[in-house]
Amino acid sequence: MHRRSFIKKSSYTGLAMSILPGLSLSKESQYSVLELMGKTSIDLFGTEINLRKEAHDAFLDMKKAAYSDGVDLKIVSSYRNFHRQDAIWEGKYLQFTEQEGMSPPAAIENIIQYSTIPGTSRHHWGTDADIIDGYPRTTGDVLEVEKFEEGGPFAYFKKWMDENATKFGFYLVYTENPKRKGFKYEPWHYSYAPLSVPMLTSFRRKNIFKLLLEEDIIGKENFSSGFLKDYIQNNILSINPELL
Ligand SMILES: [Zn+2]
Repeated sequence: MHRRSFIKKSSYTGLAMSILPGLSLSKESQYSVLELMGKTSIDLFGTEINLRKEAHDAFLDMKKAAYSDGVDLKIVSSYRNFHRQDAIWEGKYLQFTEQEGMSPPAAIENIIQYSTIPGTSRHHWGTDADIIDGYPRTTGDVLEVEKFEEGGPFAYFKKWMDENATKFGFYLVYTENPKRKGFKYEPWHYSYAPLSVPMLTSFRRKNIFKLLLEEDIIGKENFSSGFLKDYIQNNILSINPELL
């Protein structure tokens, strides 16, 4: 499965390989900067699933298993491109600075408790999804930590996922570990590790500082090198160790 998309996406490397038999490319070299930053279109599968093929197939297998245990896995948000993330970023930035009167650095610190700088979201990869249980009746925002805790509508979902998700390759990214830095605990955000681990490896090898400063992101004049270093360390890399 992996191999098929590899060949389709990189016909030029396929050509290089046929010219140079024996040339082997490392797994992560198949992901381009544009792809990792949500700036190119990728093949996505499944109505209301929108994940890469392998992740989609694994999600469907997991959904079937959950269904037989009384949990209706429902994806709230999966793939998001750069422009979508940029709109989220800009909306929050303007809200915090103009309506709530925060200084730009304070606004940015606030945004990055839950939202990423455009180009650095794992939602750009087609491997990550925010998942809930479609069965219980709920009111208000479904992505609230309390809803996944004891007594909450998604407590049973959380228990089921804790016991089963990794069997299908899905891991919680922003775990409850108090020592973890960066994004707050998100009991809904899962990542399909067989694809996202090599993607993260590939992303770490790029010059993320440079890439972000080249983008037209509102407030980026506040991205000092110290800020970006901490952001990469805390918000990109302070995740479930199974995904590193
Ligand atoms: Zn998410």
